[in-house]
Amino acid sequence: AITHELKTPIAVAKLNLETLQKHKLDEEKKDKLIRMTLQETNRLNTLTNNILISSQLEGGGYKLVKEDLDLSGMISRLVMDFKQRFADRTWILEIPNTIHVKADPLLIQILINNLLDNAVKYSPRSAAVQVKLAQGTSNVEMSIADQGPGIPDEEKGKIFKRFYRIGNESVRTTQGTGLGLYLCKKISTDHHGSIRVSDNQPTGANFIVQLPNN
Ligand code: ADP
Repeated sequence: AITHELKTPIAVAKLNLETLQKHKLDEEKKDKLIRMTLQETNRLNTLTNNILISSQLEGGGYKLVKEDLDLSGMISRLVMDFKQRFADRTWILEIPNTIHVKADPLLIQILINNLLDNAVKYSPRSAAVQVKLAQGTSNVEMSIADQGPGIPDEEKGKIFKRFYRIGNESVRTTQGTGLGLYLCKKISTDHHGSIRVSDNQPTGANFIVQLPNN
């Protein structure tokens, strides 16, 4: 599955670039191809990060570095990237300005990107994604909620397992490796935090991450 996941975006990006090179396209078609190619390279970026980091975390080859991290700033920047890539979306943001944690910036970025990626991937194109950040007494809580089908109760405990994907291969319409949420859990617990999923209202999934302040 991983080989396929890696090769598909490369093949699509290559084909798009060849089309741009060979044909004189009008501006609109050109823009569309470039946008699609960028999406594929972004997918490839998330995927290779997931594969590399999860094998390094597993093998003890990655040393977690805790530093002062402006979480408000990081989330705002990452959401901004998604806003540009998925312009049809409605984004509902509650991100106060000054929330900091002691954490590994690269890992936290991977965690947030995976949750944003899933919210967009598993919900209708124009449905809203809600991103919230709040300061608790000893920890910081971040939640990313979508309006897709949500996660059935019997799957809620399984989706954080490595390579686990809901449903079977023949009926699935989305691509993926089942590594994203595994990594989100590993990163949260390696920071002595937690991740859980609950139901969003009226529909969808709400992923809640808690990270200690220090
Ligand atoms: P991937 O998305 O690559 O399959 P993940 O580990 O990120 O892997 O997610 C595991 C599974 O959990 C997905 O295959 C999907 O079935 C389910 N899932 C994850 N996020 C959502 C979401 N926001 N809404 C509905 N289902 C989700």
